[in-house]
Amino acid sequence: MKKTLLLLILTLFVFSACSQLGNKSKKTIGKYTLVIHGGAGYIDKNNMPDSIARKYKDKLQQVLDSGTYILKNGGTALDAVTKCITMMENSPLFNAGKGAVFNAEGINEMDASIMDGSNLMAGAVANVHTIKNPILAARAVMEHTPHVLLITKGAEDFAKNQGLEIVDPSYFFTESRWKSYVRVKEQKEQGEKHGTVGAAALDRHGNLAAGTSTGGMTYKMPGRVGDSPIIGAGTYADNASCAVSCTGHGEFFIRDVVAYDIGALMKYNQLSLKEAANYIVLDKLKKQKADGGIIAVDRFGNFALTFNTSGMFRGFATSDGFHGVYIFKDHKE
Ligand code: ASP
Repeated sequence: MKKTLLLLILTLFVFSACSQLGNKSKKTIGKYTLVIHGGAGYIDKNNMPDSIARKYKDKLQQVLDSGTYILKNGGTALDAVTKCITMMENSPLFNAGKGAVFNAEGINEMDASIMDGSNLMAGAVANVHTIKNPILAARAVMEHTPHVLLITKGAEDFAKNQGLEIVDPSYFFTESRWKSYVRVKEQKEQGEKHGTVGAAALDRHGNLAAGTSTGGMTYKMPGRVGDSPIIGAGTYADNASCAVSCTGHGEFFIRDVVAYDIGALMKYNQLSLKEAANYIVLDKLKKQKADGGIIAVDRFGNFALTFNTSGMFRGFATSDGFHGVYIFKDHKE
């Protein structure tokens, strides 16, 4: 009798230990999803040589592969987002970091932000000229200050003190951005050309994160700040709903609080991610003639890549093996 009781207790103990281990592994080895963008705009398919399109797609693929590697191996959404954005900032192809556009005075003024959906912490920098990777400064603001947004010299001094790489403003010069600056200047078409980079991810621990980095709009007024460093406008992440990064005409995205609104529609109106993104981008923004798009991931790993322009540099990868990189409207995700 005593023996049977002991055996029963032992069996119960082993069973409970195993089921706890099972729950734990279920929690830490979940699904992951990564989405990235390199800006939305009127990208003319007929005017873009195949060799240039290839260059963009190859870079997007490289970025996606690096972010996916982090997520696949149990890394955090925050690290994957940071890595992807840093890589795009280092590429002259995109309007962020190296490759940022020029303002009306021929100066690069950059903005970036990042948000952790697990605790709603966020960090951002705006109007910086010497920080090689503004997204790293945004993350440092989130992790090493009690603040959310630092701007201009204060942000630059902070980044320097954090040991981040500081460069001469000439580092950001690229011939192609200078040419479009001169073109826009001659036509006096303020803010016509834009672009931005961003990433959003769900990691295997069930956490969401999003980030955005930009040079803003070509020939923008000095001091102008768009939606990209504004939490809720250009970037938002909340484990309860979704993680969003935006690109487009920033003034509209600020007024419509686009990134936050997509999550709010899911949280308060029970819309799916796709329904919320479609309503905001294809209906609300479109009616306002506000160009742009969003990339987003929800807490189940569903994603949306939605834009109302002719193209958006974009990519996605999921733990189910679903992945792709695209530029034009020819692919329905
Ligand atoms: N949203 C950015 C800004 O307004 C530009 C862009 O994404 O194209 O600064």
